[in-house]
Amino acid sequence: MPVRRRSKQIRIGDVPVGGDAPVAVQSMCNTDTRDAAATVRQIRELEEVGCEIIRVAVPDAEAAAAIPEIRRGIMIPLVADIHFDYRLALASIKAGVDALRLNPGNIGTADRVKAVVLAAKERQIPIRIGLNAGSLPRTYHPELSVAGRMVHAALEQVRLLESLDFDLIKISLKASDVPTTVQAYTEIADKVPYPLHVGITEAGTPRTGIIRSSVGIGTLLYMGIGDTIRVSLTAPPVQEVFAGYEILKSLELRQRGPVLVSCPTCGRTEVDLISIAEAVERELMRTQKPVRVAVMGCAVNGPGEASDADVGIACGKGRGILFKKGEKVAVIEEKDFVAALMKAVQEL
Ligand code: SF4
Repeated sequence: MPVRRRSKQIRIGDVPVGGDAPVAVQSMCNTDTRDAAATVRQIRELEEVGCEIIRVAVPDAEAAAAIPEIRRGIMIPLVADIHFDYRLALASIKAGVDALRLNPGNIGTADRVKAVVLAAKERQIPIRIGLNAGSLPRTYHPELSVAGRMVHAALEQVRLLESLDFDLIKISLKASDVPTTVQAYTEIADKVPYPLHVGITEAGTPRTGIIRSSVGIGTLLYMGIGDTIRVSLTAPPVQEVFAGYEILKSLELRQRGPVLVSCPTCGRTEVDLISIAEAVERELMRTQKPVRVAVMGCAVNGPGEASDADVGIACGKGRGILFKKGEKVAVIEEKDFVAALMKAVQEL
């Protein structure tokens, strides 16, 4: 793994972001923020699966007014997402959010930006400059590439905040295609010291969105770029958190919960391995143990192929072999495959 880019560390509530802090996983609620009870319910579900920072949209005064109740009901830091209306940013700060995400470029006059920045500074609340490729006006530096325009716009906003003596800054530069996003983050990474929030925007439904996000976020993380990630999916937000951890676990940047490996099946497979693997995956969601579990489709190659797993099962017709670290430890009846494997996980 290349060396991670050393960014300035900031704190979103009690979660450090940047510097040598672990890459934080975040998500965004899709409830109506004005419905505080529903929003708290969703955030608690997200907390359970390991979400570390949560953002809510604040589209109007009623949503800002719901912030104190939401804040009281949850454990993780709360970020208010603001567009256009600087008064909503001020109201959110007053209501107790831990950070703001905004695009200073669409907040209006310098006076308005200044009012928001001063209020954030007073309470030491970080601001994420959140730039999306799609929201840049066509007339903005048409001579530059899309990534170049994003970087240029972000730097203008960084300088604006810095001119107000504010440095609790985090930046995101999201496009819906991977090459543009990677290029934009790579360019800005060398130009500013601030932590970067990495993601692919409008990535799509889980089928394509997880792939696009994994390629984009994974490429950047592998280059050492990225301090917090969000996998944007057209899906319940818990799926974003699961996908975020899987990306981090794949790169061995974070450990959270088990890793399931299962073979692709082939002509040697004599059981319904897909159903077995899916059942094991469901069971594993209940544990946070950082174990590597293998579900393999034959007794011939299974244990060998999964020899780096802590525990596994090689499923043959009617019977399977339970193994630990590649060594056979028991023969299991087909009806007991999942239960025996989970028992072995618990015993580890
Ligand atoms: S573990 Fe066995 S069944 Fe699975 S792909 Fe390998 S050889 Fe085929």
